[in-house]
Amino acid sequence: MDEKTPSTTDASTREARRRNRQHGLVIVNTGNGKGKTTAALGVLFRAWGREYRVRMFQFIKSSTSNYGEHKAAKRLGIRIEPMGDGFTWLSKDLERTAALAVEQWERCREVLRTGTEDIVVLDEFTYAMSYGWVPVADVVQALEKRPPAMHVIVTGRNAPQELIDCADLVTEMQEVKHPYTDQGIKAQPGIEF
Ligand code: ATP
Ligand code: MG
Repeated sequence: MDEKTPSTTDASTREARRRNRQHGLVIVNTGNGKGKTTAALGVLFRAWGREYRVRMFQFIKSSTSNYGEHKAAKRLGIRIEPMGDGFTWLSKDLERTAALAVEQWERCREVLRTGTEDIVVLDEFTYAMSYGWVPVADVVQALEKRPPAMHVIVTGRNAPQELIDCADLVTEMQEVKHPYTDQGIKAQPGIEF
């Protein structure tokens, strides 16, 4: 190789150094409008392009979900880990849903503690807190103690105030129009899942 041409190794070493200097953010995507999960996926996609270690933990959604984002992530080698047994209002066994959410949170907490990822998304995690399955104080404590360069994105409606207080970036998606509420158009592949 021409000595002046930077090798891929040099480029990825530079990316690694850069990400270690990051100012890790707590990002919250909340509100009733559409786009909370999509925006988090967009960040993962962008960061993946920079060879960041990215991972998404999904709460609530069924562990058998195989949506477009799961298929794409598999092809790219991005870990998206769903769990749970469907949306709670469909669940026949709320105690089981709660136990699954607590288990999922334990996995997330370990990642926050050990710093094995550069960006972690906790998708639909606000529900685990608002249903009282995971204490908000535990979440805030884990976020505060995480490695300083790690970014964490939490999505879901009704983000608790304590989480908003400890976040660096909070966006509230506001519904102006939604095809389902306005026209009864159901969820479509590629747009919703
Ligand atoms: P997305 O995953 O598409 O980014 P989201 O994460 O912002 O959406 P959620 O609250 O997780 O929204 O809702 C999941 C599903 O509910 C999505 O398919 C979304 O289109 C749909 N949805 C969101 N807002 C509304 C609404 N106001 N009325 C009906 N359906 C909605
Ligand atoms: Mg969502």
